[in-house]
Parts: sequence; structure tokens; C-alpha cells
Amino acid sequence: MKMSRLFAPTLREAPAEAEIASHKLLLRAGFIRRSTAGIYTYLPLGWRVIRKIEQIVREEMNAAGGQEIMLPVVQPAELWQATGRWELYGSEMFRLRDRHSREFCLGPTHEEIITELVKGDVHSYKQLPLLLYQIQNKYRDERRPRFGLMRGREFIMMDLYSFDRSPESARESYARMYTAYEAIFRRCGLSCRAVEADAGAIGGSGGTHEFMALAEAGEAEVVFCPDCAYAANTEKAECAPPPEAVPAADAAEAAPPRTEVATPGARTIEEVSALLGLPPERFLKTLVYKGDGQYLVVVLRGDRTANEVKINNCLGPFRDLRLADEDDLAALLPCGAGFAGPVGLPAARLAVDSEAAVPAAFVCGANRPDAHWRDVVPGRDFPLPLTADLRLARAGEPCPRCGAALGGARGIEVGQVFNLGQKYSEALSARFLNEDGKSQPFYMGCYGIGVSRAMAAAVEQRGDESGIIWPPAIAPYHCVVVPVNEKDPTVTAAAMTLYDKLWAAGVETVLDDRPERLGVKFKDADLIGFPLRLVVSAAGLAQGQIELKRRRTGDLEFIPLAEAVARVRLILEEN
Ligand code: ATP
Ligand code: MG
Repeated sequence: MKMSRLFAPTLREAPAEAEIASHKLLLRAGFIRRSTAGIYTYLPLGWRVIRKIEQIVREEMNAAGGQEIMLPVVQPAELWQATGRWELYGSEMFRLRDRHSREFCLGPTHEEIITELVKGDVHSYKQLPLLLYQIQNKYRDERRPRFGLMRGREFIMMDLYSFDRSPESARESYARMYTAYEAIFRRCGLSCRAVEADAGAIGGSGGTHEFMALAEAGEAEVVFCPDCAYAANTEKAECAPPPEAVPAADAAEAAPPRTEVATPGARTIEEVSALLGLPPERFLKTLVYKGDGQYLVVVLRGDRTANEVKINNCLGPFRDLRLADEDDLAALLPCGAGFAGPVGLPAARLAVDSEAAVPAAFVCGANRPDAHWRDVVPGRDFPLPLTADLRLARAGEPCPRCGAALGGARGIEVGQVFNLGQKYSEALSARFLNEDGKSQPFYMGCYGIGVSRAMAAAVEQRGDESGIIWPPAIAPYHCVVVPVNEKDPTVTAAAMTLYDKLWAAGVETVLDDRPERLGVKFKDADLIGFPLRLVVSAAGLAQGQIELKRRRTGDLEFIPLAEAVARVRLILEEN
């Protein structure tokens, strides 16, 4: 490819809408362009990267026994109604009607449609296990599409579905996919970590792991144990139960009766904490949520953060769980959120985090403006109809398995594997005949990789101030050849010959033949992120040499022109 012909419109400045490095760099380097919120066009360089990631995914999925298919994007509502997900998916689903007013959606995922397919054509245990996959656009009307390819509304996903005859066999399929995922991300040059996860709208019974590309810009937070194998998304991470040492019943008896204290204008835990001179862990935080029109009251220790996924799993599921807004609160708690407390609230919808349910004396809002209660004892001063782990785990807390202090990191979820059990096969009565001639529902698994998100994650993990640093396996091109003076026929001829030889040796190369200043060419080479840059100059040629730069390390060296192709191939193979 000649640079003069390449459609890679680079920008000096990133558009204002771009917040994180990968979004800025992919726009600036001319890999993608935004069409509308969360919807992007892949330009030639971007599409080459996508195709390379897809190819790695394909090779590993085929090696693991997968067979590639292509399922419809447009799916009838009835299938989704049968599994209850037409309702549950809520406003994240893109819905449409045909000319006869029949309802459809644009596939956000494909469990329903593939289960229906397999139900029609697979009847015997002898046909199992069956692993089918596709690489296709998915559609999700995300609440906050952002960060470019990271959270799109139209994005590229590989999704594989496994059908097995028994729970054991389903576990084997799961393990095989887990290993294949590790290989895929390693080959893509991503540094990933598998963590225990929440199943979200996919559901299922058999456990699930997310593959996290570790990066500061990641939207997910993970905790991991330095001593045992425990690692989890904080959405899922269990919190170790409160220490046994907390004084039991006698503490409740020892605590004096509760008394009201004036706390004028002190609404936040920090403000009341400062006013009363007590640390935040001595407070109870009372949060009012709204889930599908119902109110829920959640109580946590003042220094803790609510985990909405746990709350939804414990009290829901709700299609739409959110903190109640000012208007909701005005009717329920006229004192406002700042003075809310569990004393005297109806118990019907009260859930208390296990740390806030210990018999110790706490401070909480008195449900009156400018007032709090002191010496409130859970169980004595307010009922405990439901106690559960409802808070967000944090780095530094004890590991729920072995007690060591947990480490923390941020991550980009690039893939997730689910052992679904019989959730979808039961709902859609997809059954086969087992060894004993009995009919039973399939044991299923589903496995997704965010192909477009993985591209952004690679940029996020490796970019620098000058641009992208592609791992060679997914780089749009391996190498750029830059002639120093395109008016010098010796230089251009040598550059052209080198370019041809590189292609002949399988090295995907761009020749920067543009009549631009050298500085501009170098800047663009760094921005686009070619793993290797070869500079051909008259001075170098006089010595029979060219200059080689490695984008990753910035190392420069002169190498003999005659050995250039072999050297380039060697470096690419090593990486
Ligand atoms: P998230 O929690 O980030 O919204 P998810 O858990 O809903 O993702 P899955 O249903 O597990 O996503 O989809 C499989 C993979 O598809 C994810 O691991 C992720 O890499 C990718 N993916 C999901 N949503 C998006 C999106 N909006 N944009 C780009 N990639 C996505
Ligand atoms: Mg997921």
C-alpha cells in the first residue's frame, strides 16, 4: 500500500468528544469515524485490525471444535417473550415493527435464536457436543455509549454457543472455551486476567468469568487475592463477613437508648461525621432505590458503597433499578436523603448490609430535617427482615476465601464465558434424546468476545503520547518504509525494491511516498503505530544500510540493506 493512496485521514488534534487515549488515538490516526452516538465506521486501517482480531478468534474457535455460522440480526419478539427477556432487556434493546406491525429486535445477543435453531435440527445425544459461533454486529441501546469503540451501541462480537448432553460435558466445553479465550487474548497481545463475574441479563446457573484487559481507563473494577486464586469483578466480589469479634447481644444491651441530636444542615456522612466527631464507619447510610416503580430501602455502613448488582440480585431482578430522585423522595421522605434513616421505616422493603446489621451503636438520620439519632442498634431500634452482602468490595479488604488483603485494578471486559445450565433450553423446550432414550433439555453455555472493544483495549494498554503501539499480530500493517528524499531516484528505487521484497516475504508494508516533510512522515508513522519503521536515505545507502526503528522501544539501529527483510521477519516473529 502506498501512503499517498491510503485512506487514513489523520488529525492533529483529537475531537473534543474523545475522553480516553484509545478513543482519541483511533480517531486521530484515522482508524475510525463516528457516525452518531456509539456508532462508528471502520476506515481501512481500523478494518484491517478488526479482520486480524477476527482471524485469531476464528482460528482458536475452530481449533476448539467450533463451527462458524451467521445468525440473523433481526429477531422476532416471540422468541424473546418465551424466555421473558423481551421485558427484562428493557430500554437497552433496539426494537422495531414490520409493515404488519409485528415486533422485532436487533440482536443484542443470540441465545434465543440459536436455541430455536438447534431445537429444530438436533435430536440425539450422538450429535453433541455442538459448538456454533458467529462474528457479527450486536445492537444495544446503551444508557451511556462512550469512549469510542469501548461502549458502542453497534459493536462487533464473537459469540459461541455450546450444547451438551450433561452438566459434566457442559463443564468441559466451558473449560475448553476458557483456555481458548486465554490463547486469543495472548495472541492479540493483550494482558488479561479472568475474574469471577455477575451473569447480568444473560443469567444462567453454572457460573461465569469475565476476561479483563487491565487498564486504568477500564470501566470495571476488579479485586484479586495475592495468596489464593480468588479474583472477581467488584460487581460480584463477595465481601468477607463482619469479624466474629464484634460484640454480640451484650453490646446491644450495653448501648444506651437512642437519643436525637441536632445536626442542622449536615446532610452527608462527611458533614455529620465532622459535626459529631465520629468516624464514618459509626454511621448508617440509608439509600432509597426505585426498581420498576417499587421503592426499596438499603442500609449500609457509612464508609461503604452500595453494590447495585448485588441489590438487584437480592431484591429483584428489576428491569430498571436506580436511586430514587428528588421528586420520588419528596413523597416518601420529606426530610430528603440527607436525613433518612431506617428507624420507623416500613420493614417490607428494607434490606440491610451484613456489616450494618451487627449489634453495635450507630448514628443515622432521624427522618426529620436537621436531626440524627445516636446509639441506634440494628435489630433493637429497627427490624432486620433481610440481611445480605450488599456492598462493593474494595482493595485492601480481606479475601473472602483466605483472608489475605485483596489487591485492586481497573479492567476492560473484553470477553465473558457463561455456563448457562438449562435456562434457555427449558424456556424454549429445546430437547434431545439421551442415551436412555429419554427426552431432556440441552445443557448450554455461551461465550462472547468484544472484537471491536478488544481493538480499543489494545490501544489503551500500549499507546503513548505519540500514538498507537500495535502488537504485531493485530497491527494494520507490520512496517512502513520511508524514503528520505522522494526526489532522489536512487533512494526511491531502493525504497521501492525493499517494499516489494517485504511484501513478497509476507511482511505487510506501507511505502510512505508522499511529498511531505520527513517530520510529518515520522509523526504519522508513530501515530498510526506501525511496529517497525525503515528509513531509506542516500547516506545510508552509500554504506549499504538502512535505519530501523522499533515503535515499542523507540530503539534505532542501522542494518545492512541486504539483510533487511530477514531481520524484519525475525523481529516480527519474536513479537
Ligand atoms: P458490559 O458489562 O461492559 O456492558 P456485558 O457484560 O453486557 O458488557 P456481554 O453480554 O458479556 O457484555 O457481551 C460479550 C462481550 O461483548 C463483552 O465482554 C464485551 O467485550 C463486548 N461488549 C458488550 N457490550 C459492548 C458495547 N456496548 N460495546 C462494545 N463491546 C461490548
Ligand atoms: Mg459481560
